[in-house]
Amino acid sequence: MSACPVAAEPAVCAPLPVLGRDVRVPLVTGGEVTYAALDYGASAPALQRVWDDVAAYAPYYGSVHRGAGYLSQLSTELFENSRADVAAFLGCREDDQVVFTRSTTDSLNLLATVLPPGTRVFVFETEHHAALLPWERRAGVEVTYLDAPRSPRQAVETLERALAGREPYGPALVCVTGASNVTGELWPVRELAAAAHAHGARIVVDAAQLAPHHPVDIAELDADWVAFSGHKLYAPFGAGVLAGRADWLRDAEPYLAGGGASRAVTRGPGGGVAVEWHDTAARHEAGSPNVIGAYAIASACKALTEADFGRLVERERQLVATLREGLARVPGVRVLSLFGEDAPRVGVLSFVVEGWNSSHFAAALSAEYGIGVRDGLFCAHPLVRTLLGGTPDEPGECGAPEAGQSLNAIRVSFGAGTPDE
Ligand code: PLP
Repeated sequence: MSACPVAAEPAVCAPLPVLGRDVRVPLVTGGEVTYAALDYGASAPALQRVWDDVAAYAPYYGSVHRGAGYLSQLSTELFENSRADVAAFLGCREDDQVVFTRSTTDSLNLLATVLPPGTRVFVFETEHHAALLPWERRAGVEVTYLDAPRSPRQAVETLERALAGREPYGPALVCVTGASNVTGELWPVRELAAAAHAHGARIVVDAAQLAPHHPVDIAELDADWVAFSGHKLYAPFGAGVLAGRADWLRDAEPYLAGGGASRAVTRGPGGGVAVEWHDTAARHEAGSPNVIGAYAIASACKALTEADFGRLVERERQLVATLREGLARVPGVRVLSLFGEDAPRVGVLSFVVEGWNSSHFAAALSAEYGIGVRDGLFCAHPLVRTLLGGTPDEPGECGAPEAGQSLNAIRVSFGAGTPDE
């Protein structure tokens, strides 16, 4: 491997300060370099601003919704303000709910538990496993897996055909990614939402890769729900969001049963207990909530908005363009794409190099250059297998594949903290 310098366009704005900018790592060739984290798609380093906000609050935190004590009151106010900040960041409608969860995976599993009986779910086989797998586990839900489309238009046509053919006409949910964690390509969410609604279905957007890289406006997209993870949006691990329509959330049993979700509990007539559940977001937030996680997400949302998100998007576009120019000069590189070379994408790009096992390539980038990228099947096995010319139904492990296995890829992903060089 040789370094491939490419003249970048003048940057539209400076990177945002993030943690870990100065981490030094040893090289197998001797010496050490500053670590280059090009794996924002897996987890983005927290923004310095988020860390500072959390540090300023940490000495004062207390359990929320737990009484009149000053710190509990303070934490409750902060928690509920965080909910409002996330709602503003997502452009939520007045009657939408913002539920704090553990992650995108948790958010989509929560949504799976509130589906009305008999719901039919439509999901492209190209989804991340977090969006592909939760639905079938719900009893009484029938899942239709849609073939990988080769253009945004084909995605809409495929969905329309599937929805038009459904009988009987009951509740239905479409689950689609906003931006692919493999190709980085943007999916036609607005058009898919229109198709879903035209056929009486609802739509949830897996925004795990979209929200950190592109403004999301739930009302403008006309999405029913969006889900994302704090740790990909420049906040620490352990908190996520499910935001959207209140009715299915309000009408269903709580995701977890316990304190916080229940408004009143009495001994029932038959010797058991009778529970009155909250009909707010608290219904699905039983237990002591992750107030620091929620506050960190809200802080990241505000930081992105204040930094002018549009400029950060443009900056990522430039970084991807520079990477592509560089890769074009490396013999044997093939960039993975469903929708075509020039399809709009966020700062996520996967490729394979002819003659190289992708895991070995990624290991060499780390050991020889201090560059951290992701390798493997990216928890989207059917999609990666299709893109690599295999079939979507070959088996595989989530995570780094066995040495010698060639059916895997390398992913580079940028974010708001990626330096210009
Ligand atoms: N959806 C997409 C598109 C992702 O990229 C990921 C994580 O990589 C997830 C869902 C799951 O996110 P989490 O692991 O934070 O639940």
